[in-house]
Amino acid sequence: MRAVTEQPLVGVLAVQGDVREHLVALEAAGARTCTVRRPSEVAEIDALVLPGGESTTIDKLIRAFGLQGPLRERIAGGMPVYGSCAGMILLADRIADGRPDQETLGGVDITVRRNAFGRQVDSFEEDLHIRELGGQPVRAVFIRAPWVEDAGEAVQVLARVEHGPAAGRIVAARQGNLLVTSFHPEVTGDHRFHAYFVDLVRRRR
Ligand code: GLN
Repeated sequence: MRAVTEQPLVGVLAVQGDVREHLVALEAAGARTCTVRRPSEVAEIDALVLPGGESTTIDKLIRAFGLQGPLRERIAGGMPVYGSCAGMILLADRIADGRPDQETLGGVDITVRRNAFGRQVDSFEEDLHIRELGGQPVRAVFIRAPWVEDAGEAVQVLARVEHGPAAGRIVAARQGNLLVTSFHPEVTGDHRFHAYFVDLVRRRR
């Protein structure tokens, strides 16, 4: 197994989506960063972020660039991966309301429902209390977000929607070294979620 230095190298999959925001948040959290577009780059990183964007497009590009096999292999090998929004869809074992030809990398024993919050509330923000992040609530920004419809026993629930018609829905979870959120912590300037992930990467040694 590769040695992870104090400043692990965290890649951000850069085929589509909000890549730059994650690079900034990861660096603020003490990681070295790089973009990932090629299989050779998948081999070099200690951990990976799958950004938000359009999961059907990202899936297609992952396959077109020959990344699906290498990424699945690293995930199976225990590489820490954090998927936000579309990234969460890509890490899910099962999709509800996916396109018929849509595939995921998988790894997290969850079913995610795409665009789950419906058109009326396409995008919204809410304060979430996440025990693992301590202290202050996290401002969660949801943009045409999925939610976790069901989760297997190995999945640790980190956050649920607290108010409104979707109250109780799971929107952040972890299974081993895999972390998923329905929302976008990278757009708020609060880097605690990325720090939590980078810490997980360091502990993985
Ligand atoms: N609705 C998008 C999808 O299904 C995800 C939206 C996002 O990443 N902000 O891929």
